[in-house]
Amino acid sequence: MTAHGTFLSIITGSFSTPAGENPTVAMMEAAYAHHGIDARYLNCEVDAAHLGDAVRGARAMGWAGFNCSLPHKVTVIDHLDRLADSARIIGAVNCVVADGDELVGENTDGKGFLHSLQGVTDVEGTRVVLLGAGGAARAIAVEVARAGAASLTIVARRPEQAGPLADAVTANTATACDVVAWQGDYAVPGGTDVLVNATQVGLHPAGHVMPPVEAATLGNARVVADVIPNPPTTAFLQAARDAGCTTLDGLGMLVNQGAVAVRLWTGVDPDPDVMRRKVAEVLGI
Ligand code: NDP
Repeated sequence: MTAHGTFLSIITGSFSTPAGENPTVAMMEAAYAHHGIDARYLNCEVDAAHLGDAVRGARAMGWAGFNCSLPHKVTVIDHLDRLADSARIIGAVNCVVADGDELVGENTDGKGFLHSLQGVTDVEGTRVVLLGAGGAARAIAVEVARAGAASLTIVARRPEQAGPLADAVTANTATACDVVAWQGDYAVPGGTDVLVNATQVGLHPAGHVMPPVEAATLGNARVVADVIPNPPTTAFLQAARDAGCTTLDGLGMLVNQGAVAVRLWTGVDPDPDVMRRKVAEVLGI
């Protein structure tokens, strides 16, 4: 598909700083090429002082949309016309979509996670335990709750971070939500359906480091997921696999959130395997 006419491509991209290590452009352009979509994805270095100009530029040039990464996920909201429901509840936007004259803020992180999760279990009625209460955790909490999780336990070392997230889930969904103070090694409760590491513990080059969880209790969870995309198999996931759990890696979440963005911008449902192969290739993993 093309924008208008033979020589006018659909323009998409990303605004962040630092942008140089962000591999998203490779997987997005792999999807465009694979599906014959005449679109570009421009990875742009945009600092906080220039975010407003960048958004106005994208609007003026008729971009189909753009991703927002650090440090713009919250501040970009001031420059948008409206927010989709998830982004409003999460309070952060990682994907902006042009809809006619309007720029709409979406959050595809949680949707990408949910897509991975739905591939291995029906989310409705599940008991979910979330480690961490930062940006990734917020996005995941809101999406699993919107998808009908029965309960959500947020395990976090700072109650002042976890409390507002629990309040947002309780105010906007029917999921029962509680907060557990994370002190020492967390013991995973029996009957846990889904356990998610939503902290950055285990991120390259520290893939061998586990979040503080009692390894002997990992088998109490049916499905164990990690948000860490690199390395795809963290020590946490390996331990969960050894305990007999079904595992989901953060690379799948990364690919799926990108696939949601491609769909929102172009209407094409891209092949996630093509995107995963490309991003793994450029990351050398
Ligand atoms: P934030 O800094 O917003 O949140 C991190 C959370 O982890 C905080 O609650 C933090 O607690 C907690 N935490 C960190 N270290 C520890 C520790 N040792 N013990 C207990 N809690 C800890 O980061 P993000 O949520 O934005 O990102 C988290 C990870 O998610 C990153 O590695 C990022 O790469 C990944 N991510 C992956 C995505 C994907 O598509 N796969 C998408 C988005 C993010 P405190 O505030 O107390 O430090």
